Amino acid sequence: KLFNELQDLKGNIRVFCRIRPFIPGQSGNKTIVDSIGDNGQLVISNPSKPGKEGNKTFKFNKVFGPTANQADVFSDIQPFIQSVVDGFNVCIFAYGQTGSGKTYTMTGPNNATEEEWGVNYRALNNLFKISQNRRTTIVYEVGVQMIEIYNDQVRDLLAAKGSGKKYPFIKQQNIYSCGMVIFVFLNLHTMGVTNISQPNGLAVPDASMHPVLSTSDVIDLIDVGFKNRTVSATAMNERSSRSHSIVTVHVRGKDLKSGNCLYGNLHLVDLAGSERVDRSEVTGDRLKEAQHINKSLSALGDVIFSLAQKGAHVPYRNSKLTQVLQSSLGGQAKTLMFVQLNPDAVSYTESLSTLKFAERVS
Ligand code: ADP
Ligand code: MG
Repeated sequence: KLFNELQDLKGNIRVFCRIRPFIPGQSGNKTIVDSIGDNGQLVISNPSKPGKEGNKTFKFNKVFGPTANQADVFSDIQPFIQSVVDGFNVCIFAYGQTGSGKTYTMTGPNNATEEEWGVNYRALNNLFKISQNRRTTIVYEVGVQMIEIYNDQVRDLLAAKGSGKKYPFIKQQNIYSCGMVIFVFLNLHTMGVTNISQPNGLAVPDASMHPVLSTSDVIDLIDVGFKNRTVSATAMNERSSRSHSIVTVHVRGKDLKSGNCLYGNLHLVDLAGSERVDRSEVTGDRLKEAQHINKSLSALGDVIFSLAQKGAHVPYRNSKLTQVLQSSLGGQAKTLMFVQLNPDAVSYTESLSTLKFAERVS
């Protein structure tokens, strides 16, 4: 029985590994990570220890090799989106060193074509499609928030700048009063609710909520979020790799017959780069950043690990990242971690530490 329970709980945590291809023009061509067959096994070879002794094997729920495209990856994610529409909370993370393809997986490359769309857009596209198919029985409302966590501080990436103007980048017809939307979501909390996971999945009540009606609304919003992220990058190099960004999709479905509501939340998390920073080489702000990233990623690892172990105490409070996502980690919530790998030999040490992190939580 205990085994079954553990299995069930573990069933809520999935770890997928994705190896990105070599990028044209980039040095290197010999891959040190490879999947073995189709059952989620991966082998990493130590470039300075040729032969079998230098090999280490890891096992995940799934490994996507360098030829897997965005549609291949999404086909294994779709069931999670179905869960969100059915009233569950889902967190999808991308973990890995800078340059390993986290943003590619979650969002896609810059100016992505529809074929290159990452998880964000495909998820929303699918979510709208499912809700459309159900429209005669359940009416869905969808709202989006986007925040970043940098040095353990949370920032709304979709907030109005200054006091007067609201969401200057967003097409006018899509603007609803943010206050009204939050009121709607809070108000529904008190209605007769069945099959509910958490009515408010993100513990940042102040972050602006934006209703969305279509995938193109979502594309516009994420675009704004990315722009806001870059705006603050002037003082800091490649800020985007030093902060966690979280797109949260709130879904409310109202059953037309019973009037009952279900809530699902989807968190799409592009984590800060996991690379270790050499303490002897950085000081000041850079060291502080590195320490915050290190601390928050370990805290995330600890939370997922203790959930998988069915630990009585889950240490959510050790970082902003885990606090913000608390209601969507554990319980009935489903978690998917993408472990991103750079195939190149120069990344051996980082790839190995990424794999060890993932092994602990899977
Ligand atoms: P990260 O967000 O982890 O720092 P990126 O997503 O920015 O990494 O990826 C680094 C580079 O590799 C980008 O130019 C990106 O477009 C490219 N890339 C990553 N994954 C893939 C992939 N699966 N297929 C093609 N290009 C990829
Ligand atoms: Mg990135």
